[in-house]
Amino acid sequence: MDYDKSNRIDLHIHSTYSDGTLTPAKILAMARDLNLGAIAITDHDTIDGSKEALRTGIPSNLKFLTGVEISALPPRLFSFPGSFHILGYLIRFDDPILNSTLNKLQQARKTRNPKIIKQLNMLGIDLSLREVIDESGQCQLGRPHIARTMVKKGFVKSINDAFDKYLGKGRPAYIDKFRVDCSKAIEIILGAGGVPVLAHPVLLEIKDDRIFEQLLVTLIEMGLQGLEVYYPEHSAKHIAFYEKLAKQYNLLMTGGTDFHGSIKPDIKMGTGRGDFFVPCSLYNDLINCCCGQ
Ligand code: AMP
Ligand code: ZN
Ligand code: FE
Ligand code: FE
Repeated sequence: MDYDKSNRIDLHIHSTYSDGTLTPAKILAMARDLNLGAIAITDHDTIDGSKEALRTGIPSNLKFLTGVEISALPPRLFSFPGSFHILGYLIRFDDPILNSTLNKLQQARKTRNPKIIKQLNMLGIDLSLREVIDESGQCQLGRPHIARTMVKKGFVKSINDAFDKYLGKGRPAYIDKFRVDCSKAIEIILGAGGVPVLAHPVLLEIKDDRIFEQLLVTLIEMGLQGLEVYYPEHSAKHIAFYEKLAKQYNLLMTGGTDFHGSIKPDIKMGTGRGDFFVPCSLYNDLINCCCGQ
């Protein structure tokens, strides 16, 4: 398809309300300066970034979707090593079940951080939670903030190095955190009037395409409505596969860079590593689907 490349969108952005380094106001200003057609702020397990963006005021010519990215547990009988996240778009902020579930997830993050620090201390890394808080000044601390402080103190060369050596799944300072069952994540997004979308399928790290398809069918039965087909880590082959599945199962296709600001410096808003492009037509499909419900 021949797309108008001047009108790109980015439906996967993190703000300072999770582990992004730009405030919602700065994200809006950057999106406006980049002339993006539409954006969504999709913070981990919180809608506060989206809320603040709306309070700040959306620049004219920029369309804005409310969003969230929920950490979920796989369905029974499925097991895979990667990150399983469900994006929710166009959610209502006042939904009580959405809010109570997100509060529980936030709480779980708070109890996890001291455990990670304790484990790092036991491994000989001299780091305190206070130092991480002072260094980050964030609303919601996560592993990237711990990693960044470790870089600053010279324990590791880079954020990736910190994940590879200590913080990543299966590494010695990895601590699992509470996640909601995927059926619940989908249900609460639908309950808040939103559109549930499977985030960055390649990061699930499911090697067998047939198993991925079975997972997708299971999620669709739970109410999943979309697939994040366009993502900087997706090769042309991945994209072709995900586009095919999205068409086959009548799923909305979405896409975004997973922009985190300077915590993931190689990923730029709207353009990822350079030639990443999500067409504005996908934003229209999402809106039309939701308004037609
Ligand atoms: P947390 O919210 O503490 O579970 O951390 C999740 C964040 O860590 C996400 O933004 C990921 O992009 C980031 N992350 C996960 N694995 C890695 C890795 N190997 N290198 C760099 N960042 C990572
Ligand atoms: Zn993140
Ligand atoms: Fe994610
Ligand atoms: Fe993300």
